[in-house]
Amino acid sequence: MEIPLLVGAFIGGAVVGSFLNMLIWRLPRDESILFPPSHCPKCNARLHTLDLIPILSYIFLRGRCRYCGEKIEPRYLIVELASSLLALLIVYKFLIYDYEPLLVLLYLPFTFALIAVFFIDLQHYIIPDELSLFTIGWGVAVDGIRIWRGEQPLIAGFIPPAILSALAMGVLIILINLLGRKMFKKESMGGGDVMLGGGMGACLGWQNALVAFFLAVLIGALWGVILIVKRKKKWGTYIAFGPFLVIGSIGAIFFAPQLIDLYLTFAGFK
Ligand SMILES: [Zn+2]
Repeated sequence: MEIPLLVGAFIGGAVVGSFLNMLIWRLPRDESILFPPSHCPKCNARLHTLDLIPILSYIFLRGRCRYCGEKIEPRYLIVELASSLLALLIVYKFLIYDYEPLLVLLYLPFTFALIAVFFIDLQHYIIPDELSLFTIGWGVAVDGIRIWRGEQPLIAGFIPPAILSALAMGVLIILINLLGRKMFKKESMGGGDVMLGGGMGACLGWQNALVAFFLAVLIGALWGVILIVKRKKKWGTYIAFGPFLVIGSIGAIFFAPQLIDLYLTFAGFK
């Protein structure tokens, strides 16, 4: 039972990955998601089923368009692989290792949206609101299932926890942004990060979202230092923060309890 489940997760993840590739191309360009059908950006040839098999088409076509020979960005393969591997790991961790089907329902779409955010922000320095709003809505909806099943009490008797967590994370990022503006006279995070923070709060809950946020800041700072040391960036140049929020969130999905433990040990509370 386990092997077919994992194979299914991998293939399903790859199929979603090829949909994500389409979003990564079209969302920042404000192109319609439904129309026109997939085509080569260079020669405009309409792509057929054989050109669109996730992962395999890229490998068999050796990363080139079958019609004009133009090189296809490796990003297409990377997105499909990332999406399949993460789907496989989530199904393994939350369906086989632990048995928490509701977390699979919550984390799969959240992670897929995060993958799209990662590559769009990396290239275009924007996080489309559609993706963040989707993660907020999804987190609140799954939270609703927990409340309905009586597994999750409402806060103060009427506020769903996911909504409060989303607001708390959004406000936290706004405050840090204001602080950054006062201290360094520059924008550290934008409105896109605030919305994504909301989605992180809604899907991860505020505790794990905080873990994700600090992980993002830590990795972002490390990456900044590496770039400056390698003289690729000057002090104070803009680095998109969204990709680090994505890495932090995925880290929190898999390792939040261990990371909290590590922090408490380091801080001397244990
Ligand atoms: Zn072409």
